Amino acid sequence: MTDLVPREVLHACYTRVSPSIEVENPQLVAWSHSVAELLDLDSKEFERPDFPVIFSGALPLVRAMPYAQCYGGHQFGMWAGQLGDGRAISLGEVLNSKSERWELQLKGAGKTPYSRFADGLAVLRSSIREFLCSEAMHSLGIPTTRALCLVTTGNYVARDMFYDGNPKDEPGAIVCRVAQSFLRFGSYQIHASRGKEDLDIVRTLADYTIHHHFPHLENISKSDSLSFITGEGDDSVVDLTSNKYAAWVVGVAERTASLVARWQGVGFTHGVLNTDNMSVLGLTIDYGPFGFLDAFDPSYTPNTTDLPGRRYCFANQPDIGLWNIAQFTTTLSAAKLINDKEANYAMERYGTKFMDEYQAIMTRKLGLQKYNKQLISELLKNMSVDKVDYTNFFRLLSNIKADPTIPEDELLIPLKAVLLDIGKERKDAWTSWVQSYIQELSANDISDEERKISMNSVNPKYILRNYLCQSAIDAAEQGDFEEVHRLLKVMESPYDDQPGMEKYARLPPAWAYRPGVGMLSCSS
Ligand code: AMP
Ligand code: MG
Ligand code: MG
Repeated sequence: MTDLVPREVLHACYTRVSPSIEVENPQLVAWSHSVAELLDLDSKEFERPDFPVIFSGALPLVRAMPYAQCYGGHQFGMWAGQLGDGRAISLGEVLNSKSERWELQLKGAGKTPYSRFADGLAVLRSSIREFLCSEAMHSLGIPTTRALCLVTTGNYVARDMFYDGNPKDEPGAIVCRVAQSFLRFGSYQIHASRGKEDLDIVRTLADYTIHHHFPHLENISKSDSLSFITGEGDDSVVDLTSNKYAAWVVGVAERTASLVARWQGVGFTHGVLNTDNMSVLGLTIDYGPFGFLDAFDPSYTPNTTDLPGRRYCFANQPDIGLWNIAQFTTTLSAAKLINDKEANYAMERYGTKFMDEYQAIMTRKLGLQKYNKQLISELLKNMSVDKVDYTNFFRLLSNIKADPTIPEDELLIPLKAVLLDIGKERKDAWTSWVQSYIQELSANDISDEERKISMNSVNPKYILRNYLCQSAIDAAEQGDFEEVHRLLKVMESPYDDQPGMEKYARLPPAWAYRPGVGMLSCSS
């Protein structure tokens, strides 16, 4: 019998707990072929009548050792104490034929000791979003936790913080998430927050993480040449070969920087970048009130809970990543695993890595061969003034010809579909930008055709816009899962032109701006 009483779980990284959910009539809504492949699961498995029962948590998985993790976190900049897997239960790990370890986790399968005041359940609406976006992000080439399958439980779940303020019963659902690890910054923070006697747990968990997920750092030695000069004088050398924890925290900082740079590249806004939602592997984790940019808006904040502060708006993500890394280094410093110089170095690396990657991504998005700060910032300024669709703009940009003889009044033709209703003054601003762009392109040594191919391989045609998710959710709530399947399929090849699927690349319709579609709350 597992104890599900909500409580402080002291001196432990996890609690053994079994899914407690009772299901009426669980049904498999959708599953991901590519995740099944990762787990060596044959497609026949998904046809088994007991599949949805197992993946709703109602039937134990043979040899599983289910547990919920203990973690804490800074929420909106404030230390929130113990949080933990309040509605996620890990079933255990699968060792695949490539000797990779994959952890399987059910999200929404009932209470755990970490459920605090909540029910441990998830609704179909948020589960569809997590399922689709996990797979969409993976196909965009962005590190993320994955989603094996989505089942409905047949039960109804009361959600009283629904966007129109009225309580509503919503269909319950469960996503089976898959990752090499679900460890978060908060997994380490919680133990350091509990004082001296728990600092050993931080070390043990760090050792575990390095052993399983950063094995190349375990026996790091002088021959690995990982020392860095950070300033003037002897004192400024950070020798990462003498401390595996320092090498690790630098690795985490770099992965985080690279992740955030990729988010900025595709216009993804996570929505809740609390330290409990920061993966130590640098994965996108915990899909809640996320959103992709439609019209370019640096202050875009999909999470209504984050208004009016906009702490986690699109443009703040890079700074928030650094703030979160600073909390992580503080934890490791408290546990005496790294010194101040190493902590500072990790933060410095975050900044450098972010700028390197972001500049490289934006350079590729524009099809340039050399970073041009002024051209890019001028572009983003223009896009924000005219509320230009971020995704469709870059996709169309590849149609511009690097031909300086094109008459001025024809320069904007390739961009017509995204430069709607702009007046003469704005037309002039864009014409002048395109002229500078063409001038910059003429320094390229590749043809227009080659450039188009390379730009289209980094500028997606299809992204999981909130309104697309909402259409799939509306149909699914009526029992029709076809749209979920179609969206999954489209989002699996976001960079390809998919004949017949053009409607999924369209600008959001007017209804997309109604409450609850573009704007979402943490409650799900
Ligand atoms: P999130 O906003 O999803 O990152 O969740 C923040 C914290 O609240 C985590 O500890 C979650 O496990 C917990 N939580 C969110 N929703 C629920 C729920 N319905 N039942 C139990 N715990 C929840
Ligand atoms: Mg979370
Ligand atoms: Mg969660």
